[in-house]
Amino acid sequence: NRQWIFANTPQGALTEATFRWQETPMPQPGDGEVLVRTRMLSLDPANRAWMNGATYREQVLPGDVMHGFTLGEVVASNVPDFAPGDLVDSMGGWQDYAALPAAALVKRNRRHTPELLIGVLGVTGLTAYHGLFDIGEPRPGDVVLVSAAAGAVGTIVGQLARLAGCRVVGIAGGQAKCDWLVRELGFDAAVDYKAADFHKQLRVATPNGVDVYFDNVGGVCLDAALLAMNLGGRIVCCGAVSQYDTGATGGSPLLPGVVVTKRLRMQGFIVLDYAAQQDQAEARLAGWIESGAVRSILDIVDGLENAPASLIRLLAGGNLGKMAIRVS
Ligand code: NDP
Repeated sequence: NRQWIFANTPQGALTEATFRWQETPMPQPGDGEVLVRTRMLSLDPANRAWMNGATYREQVLPGDVMHGFTLGEVVASNVPDFAPGDLVDSMGGWQDYAALPAAALVKRNRRHTPELLIGVLGVTGLTAYHGLFDIGEPRPGDVVLVSAAAGAVGTIVGQLARLAGCRVVGIAGGQAKCDWLVRELGFDAAVDYKAADFHKQLRVATPNGVDVYFDNVGGVCLDAALLAMNLGGRIVCCGAVSQYDTGATGGSPLLPGVVVTKRLRMQGFIVLDYAAQQDQAEARLAGWIESGAVRSILDIVDGLENAPASLIRLLAGGNLGKMAIRVS
């Protein structure tokens, strides 16, 4: 069983020295457990935040098999609810096989491909869906701004907001990603937060202000969005990727005053809060994928051995769409 061990807590930006490769005997499922073979390993910016602690879940500790969301296939089962061949979501971690308690598994619909199940029909799509619709509450004609727009969640948020009849503006790093968002994904405009004239680009792209800001990053993008918000606007606090790898903290001095005077609503959420609505959201997302209304943008890397380098690339913005490792 090939594994990546979380060897030591990184100080500053993640490097490959954080991880150690090891090979161990195949795990055996005990009572109430299921042996799952990893098919796809999701790489998420949150993986880096889990190393720092103080998130919505347990911290990754040195010596652990690196934690990660996986889509796996059951190979042996000691419980009646799961049979070999079933596809399951779990926290299988960065390894080929895991013996897991049945209660920790969620069975998925085999009708869909593993690539869709780990992306648009997984955490990524559900995060975009619930964050935008349940918290952002976009109305036709609203201006929706989304950061990390060329990433996994951002590409879906932008497409869903277009379907909801909104004008969609993306924030991304670099002109190439901005051009791609407009040309390939139908964004009305995209602005480059790394450009010297970022604030001017944003003013030009949002002449009528912003009604919904879907915040994936915090930092300078959130500051710029606060200035652009309209009265009564909604800010969906989805993530703070600008802080995970840099340790940057500290809020915007703009924040309290602007939220008050503009009567803004800022609300955070964790997609797991919506587990009870997963089937309905998944069915709607699947319908849009099948009709071609929403495109699944994937950045899939073959081979478990490439997980550390790929997570480093993700945090540096080297991805387009959902990044995952095809393990088997
Ligand atoms: P992405 O695919 O969007 O990858 C992260 C992106 O962040 C990179 O591509 C990079 O794009 C951008 N980025 C990196 N550093 C910075 C920075 N300093 N400032 C601005 N942008 C930066 O990841 P996901 O779509 O998987 O995740 C997006 C966000 O959603 C994350 O914050 C994540 O934690 C959050 N999330 C929240 C969930 C919830 O339940 N609340 C569930 C799942 C995800 P660029 O080139 O544009 O810089």
